[in-house]
Amino acid sequence: MATLYIVATPIGNLGDITLRAIDILKSVDLILCEDTRQTQKLLDHYEIKTKTISYHQHSKLNKAEYIFQLLKEGKNLALVSDAGTPGISDPGNQLVRRIMDVRYPLIRIVPIPGPSALTAAVSISGLPMDRFLFLGFPPVKNKRKKFFEEAVRQLADSKYPVIFYESPYRIIKTLKELSSLRAKELSSLAVVVCRELTKKFETIYRGTIEDVLEQLEKEEIRGEFVVIIGK
Ligand code: SAM
Repeated sequence: MATLYIVATPIGNLGDITLRAIDILKSVDLILCEDTRQTQKLLDHYEIKTKTISYHQHSKLNKAEYIFQLLKEGKNLALVSDAGTPGISDPGNQLVRRIMDVRYPLIRIVPIPGPSALTAAVSISGLPMDRFLFLGFPPVKNKRKKFFEEAVRQLADSKYPVIFYESPYRIIKTLKELSSLRAKELSSLAVVVCRELTKKFETIYRGTIEDVLEQLEKEEIRGEFVVIIGK
């Protein structure tokens, strides 16, 4: 039976990869990547010679068909994303879905767990994390207000911490939009913004929304962000 391994890769520091992930990436017939150039850096670092092809949700159907064909022939494949665990706010789960729809259960789908920006951020938040609500990326244009209203409603009802991903281009705008919605309820909540986790410029900003905004506005905004808001 062919196997598709879903392999977690580092979110920055190349040392953050499991021994099993390296073995699997060395042993499979082909590695499916979001961006082959990005993954190649990791493969070169670990002297992994396996061939790569790009796969992402906008891939034409014939590429998906090609992947199904390889699996049907009994080839073992690994799927990686640019960073972290495939399927969490990236296109990995689209492929898993398609394979389940089309060929499952003839293809084994096996997780190779490891880093994720989500779990790394949760682990250092210091907030109660027995339960949390992960909202992925805020929409870039439409439905932004609805997204933030949902986040604020969740927080105002004080159920669970809310977590989302954000890019450097919108982090300040996003925090401002959030705080403007229900400034009173949010002003007492704890915000943890994790920037560039595991990388050289890793920074954790903590405080109220206002505190964190003040700290961020003093700096040049670069890198990738995870935002956590809770009690
Ligand atoms: N699947 C990935 C995972 O498990 O972490 C996430 C993929 S998503 C397309 C990329 C987003 O994750 C970034 O825009 C950022 O919000 C977050 N992210 C990834 N690496 C990060 C890092 N080193 N530090 C902080 N956030 C990061």
